[in-house]
Amino acid sequence: MYKYLFGPVQSRRLGVSLGVDLVTHKICSLDCVYCECGSTTELTLERKEYVPYNKVIEELQHYLSNHPVPNYITFSGSGEPTLNSRIGDVIEYIKSSTPQISVAVLTNGTLLGDEAVRNGLLKADLVIPSLDAASLKSFKNINRPHNSIDLASYIQGIVDFRDIYKGKLALEILILPKFNDSTEDIELLKDACYRINPDVIQLNTLDRPGAIANLIPASQDLLESIRDYLQSKESEKIANSIESQSQQNFTFKSIPVEIIASRLKGKDNIKYRQDMKSAILETIYRRPCTVQDLASILGSPINAANEIEEYLLTLKQEGKITSVDQERGIFYQIMKQ
Ligand code: SF4
Repeated sequence: MYKYLFGPVQSRRLGVSLGVDLVTHKICSLDCVYCECGSTTELTLERKEYVPYNKVIEELQHYLSNHPVPNYITFSGSGEPTLNSRIGDVIEYIKSSTPQISVAVLTNGTLLGDEAVRNGLLKADLVIPSLDAASLKSFKNINRPHNSIDLASYIQGIVDFRDIYKGKLALEILILPKFNDSTEDIELLKDACYRINPDVIQLNTLDRPGAIANLIPASQDLLESIRDYLQSKESEKIANSIESQSQQNFTFKSIPVEIIASRLKGKDNIKYRQDMKSAILETIYRRPCTVQDLASILGSPINAANEIEEYLLTLKQEGKITSVDQERGIFYQIMKQ
């Protein structure tokens, strides 16, 4: 079983994606209410080598020598990957040793105000920072940030990164009714989006149990109306606001907005891992999953749900996992020690 790698998962956005987790559970600069990894246990802005560079490289070498090459190697997992001070070195290693594999970084973006973080991510092919709120009240409610994070500097950090980054930048916004879906929230987010100017905006919503109970996912109708508003050419207000902040003339060019499909259908699945029990544990260690999620993520044939259920039963009997009933089905998650 790998300690720092997980999957590969059949990712909604990246195809076959091998995950790399550069921090231990659950170290983050935010404590988002919707976090599928649970509550943040170490809320910090301190950058250090939370997991050792050499060990990560050893696991990558072992994986790539023994498995098919994934489409992407993706930095995500159970915390904020840019908190690891060696993330730039790991990206450098991958791009110099296996340039055919694309590198993606899923980050909350709060550290992009730091020049070292921005420079460390320059060689990634895809960076997906998130921004869920551009008003202080909503930011605090939904993201529950470390108290040294200044919202304006956070947004400016993403703007500064966009200015120097040549790869694809996708800005992810997770919409959570009652937390960040008011008219004012969406107007302010639109303003921030056009300042950042990503290649694409990705709208997402809750898909799994969050860090707190009773959260409601956004409906498809709500996501579509927000998408239409974000893409619409309107409001001189945005132009004026952006011009006054950047001191440059602003010409409106609509940014494409994608709604992230809610779940994968498992039609093109390929089985990528033989050691299924370890792969299941590595996956649900990072996010709760249903049997169908695991079948999709791990590339099992549809008719292998029974096989996955058997593994889950064994893991439950061994006291390693537990299950929780949710609207979308029974989610399996790691047993908290
Ligand atoms: S969702 Fe991401 S940014 Fe938010 S607490 Fe979880 S790991 Fe951190």
